[in-house]
Amino acid sequence: MAQTTSPVTDRAHQAAKRYIYAWGGGTAEGSGGMKDLLGGKGAGLAEMSLAGLPTPPGFTITTEACNDYFAAGEQLPSGLWDDVLQAMAEVERSTGKGFGDAKNPLLVSVRSGAKFSMPGMMDTVLNLGLNEATLQGLVALTGNERFGWDAYRRFVQMFGRIVLDVPGERFDHALEARKHARGVQLDTELSASDLRELAEEFKGIVREVTGRDFPTDPYEQLDLAIKAVFASWFGKRARDYRNFNKIPHDLGTAVNVVTMVFGNMGDDSGTGVAFTRNPSTGEPALFGEYLTNAQGEDVVAGIRTPQQISNLRDDMPAVYDEFQTIARRLERHYRDMQDLEFTIERGRLYMLQTRSGKRTAAAAVKLAVDMVGEGLISKEEAVGRIEPAQVDQLLRAQFDRAAIAQASRVAKGLNASPGAAVGRAVFDADDAVDWAGRGERVVLVRVETSPDDFHGMAVAQGILTARGGATSHAAVVARQIGKPCVAGCAELVVDYATRSARSTDSGVAFKEGDWISLDGTTGEVYLGALATVEARFEDQPELQQILAWADEIRRMEVWTNADKPEEAAQARSYGAQGIGLCRTEHMFREGERLEIVRGAILVANAATRAKARAAAGETLDADESEAVARFDAAMSTLEALQQGDFEGIFRAMDGLPVVIRLIDPPLHEFLPNLEEQLVKVTRAESVGGASEEDRELLATIKSLHEQNPMLGLRGCRLGLMIPDFVRIQTRAILNAQIAVKRAGGNPIAKIMIPLVGHVNELARTRQLLESEAKAVEAAAGVEVDYKFGTMIEVPRGALTADEIAREADFFSFGTNDLTQMTFGFSRDDAEGGFLLKYVEEGILPVNPFQTLDDAVAGLMKVAVDKGRATKPGLELGICGEHGGDPESIAKCEAIGLDYVSCSPFRVPVARLAAAQAALVSMAERDK
Ligand code: PEP
Ligand code: MG
Repeated sequence: MAQTTSPVTDRAHQAAKRYIYAWGGGTAEGSGGMKDLLGGKGAGLAEMSLAGLPTPPGFTITTEACNDYFAAGEQLPSGLWDDVLQAMAEVERSTGKGFGDAKNPLLVSVRSGAKFSMPGMMDTVLNLGLNEATLQGLVALTGNERFGWDAYRRFVQMFGRIVLDVPGERFDHALEARKHARGVQLDTELSASDLRELAEEFKGIVREVTGRDFPTDPYEQLDLAIKAVFASWFGKRARDYRNFNKIPHDLGTAVNVVTMVFGNMGDDSGTGVAFTRNPSTGEPALFGEYLTNAQGEDVVAGIRTPQQISNLRDDMPAVYDEFQTIARRLERHYRDMQDLEFTIERGRLYMLQTRSGKRTAAAAVKLAVDMVGEGLISKEEAVGRIEPAQVDQLLRAQFDRAAIAQASRVAKGLNASPGAAVGRAVFDADDAVDWAGRGERVVLVRVETSPDDFHGMAVAQGILTARGGATSHAAVVARQIGKPCVAGCAELVVDYATRSARSTDSGVAFKEGDWISLDGTTGEVYLGALATVEARFEDQPELQQILAWADEIRRMEVWTNADKPEEAAQARSYGAQGIGLCRTEHMFREGERLEIVRGAILVANAATRAKARAAAGETLDADESEAVARFDAAMSTLEALQQGDFEGIFRAMDGLPVVIRLIDPPLHEFLPNLEEQLVKVTRAESVGGASEEDRELLATIKSLHEQNPMLGLRGCRLGLMIPDFVRIQTRAILNAQIAVKRAGGNPIAKIMIPLVGHVNELARTRQLLESEAKAVEAAAGVEVDYKFGTMIEVPRGALTADEIAREADFFSFGTNDLTQMTFGFSRDDAEGGFLLKYVEEGILPVNPFQTLDDAVAGLMKVAVDKGRATKPGLELGICGEHGGDPESIAKCEAIGLDYVSCSPFRVPVARLAAAQAALVSMAERDK
């Protein structure tokens, strides 16, 4: 398959635009690169035809036609129908058959095909062109009456449901009733006359529901089917799917009209789907399923349980060999794992579709690493192909082995999508949404899923089905959205009426609301909520390989936000190159420390005032002296505790930079809640009197109360008002550094001041800090090397970054506060309130506290440019939550930051995202 571009031929057209691209007979008017216009399926068929692979002739009506159809109020663009007739005439010529010809009928399928694959989300009609007359021709040509009637009843059923909106259950019930009446289990066991009667019954259902006869004119069928495929683009399930997958709604779908080939012409026919490698594990072997004597819908819908593709080698060896050769060629051509659809008609193989296959995170990583080893793709391509969310998935929890050993096993099905899911059983997609809306974790249990269940699957922790294989709807969709799934659990009898399920093997049953646990990696289902354990990064060499390549590519470093030595060590094992934010106030809240901090806060203002008076040569009274003594005692206890904390962190990050931020939040955050303390004191007063301590605490809480604490006495303002906070923290950091260094370590300290809006705030804090540092150095008799920097998280700070840079060795963007203050949204209130609605209603495209807003990024860029203009070597990073968000990381790359800092768990994701961002900016530079 050397050919990748097509000789796009001119094509005469009646419509104002060219809407049609045909293929067949070893050539095509479109090509694989035209997915925008032809959709994935149309582009794939064109490309396969160009390469000389066996495809049934047909043509694509473009996505543009779909968009123009909706723009014109659901009318085919003028002239398009004439062009369709012309294209049909060409298909008739190349197949030698006639559309509507009773002697030699051409039948077609009408298939949707958008740019992005949306498995099962839109509609396809098979066997179009059949009526009582052409049916006779088909029977005569094949000599197979049963086949003819089966094709016809399928057509009436599909066309009725998709095009004429007849509820599908009406047909299903009639089919089941007939099988029951005949005492058979499989559709294939129904005779020709059963199927003829069934077709009549189906047509009766159509008449009853729609009030019209089933259309017999093939061209009318075609017209209606094309419009139905267009309409399916805006069907509910397609919309839901696009919303979930962030696919734009204005792409439109193409319509492919393809000559029918039949997989149900007997035992030398069949149909199947296969992946060129295992989409669950990435193992390099053909993986798929097929059914003999069946049409495609039978495989996908999971109605009959298909056979492994390897069995085809025994059933039809020559076809298997040809298929394997084609699979290999397609994979080498597209340089990616392919998802193939094929049909065998009387021993002859036809390829119906090729596209890049959906895969689990584990498979994505293995495939990419293997393909680099095989010389198929470069390291850069391998890194570019892994989605950051997949890395996230690979670090997700698994079931605890000990919990599994104790658990009661319900059943075992197919391990369709890996991971551990725990939730309460629900048996209906709408129920799943309701329960999840109430904050419940649910597992969706179905006999099988259909695209109508998508909304329930999207909110479930995992999916369990009783029927369907590894390529069934449940399996494909679960893998794609990263949910654990156990499919085809045949021993499970699911009863929707009683909302319960029971295993025929184990006898174990569960009902709606019961906790169940699914292991999508093994296919096991357990009763109860099993404990899970974190996924082990160290057991995933392929993931580590991808990230090692990412490290070679990326420009930005990845640091972490960690306040504890254990977190620092965890982040380091994930590849963190430093700590970008150690929030020291977290250390104030631990255990007995809170009481000490409260003790200090109670007298902080009085002691600070008294110290100022003493410094001015005034004499202190007894109360003042006591306040100073209490304050100093509490602060020196804190200092000692903090020094211990910092020593632990320096040891964990030995040789790597550690940015320690001085105390940031308003002091009242360390005190009890005002209302609660008020109630406590008032109650105590009414029954004999509150303690002195409680009254004093209440008075302090009241005195520290602020209307807008987020904009109040916090950050650097706190250190300027109560300088001892800066002093003790400086001493704790530097003495920790001296201690660790004396013990042979290599601590690298960077002290960071939060919430600076004016250069004078930073300059004053620096003076304070430096004089304390000198005192520490003098006392220890050593010089201490540390860097001094600031957060940029107040818009004024960003706008005056040139002035601020004079006082700072580094900037770290606190984008949580910067977003809060740029939008004027309270971080405490907005996310739990109106912001959700804003995003739902499209007032904002995304939550700006999750993904960096462009205006905020713009402010950062101003600060970057101004800061570097003053100090070219200024080190620049980000430590807001955005530092772990892939989209935001790309924006950080674009504005030239040196590093991103994120929570330990997101470090691997950030390593990949930073590399992908670097690849994008390299590609842009090369343009
Ligand atoms: C920030 O504001 O982005 C930040 C990292 O600081 P905090 O979240 O602690 O205010
Ligand atoms: Mg902040």
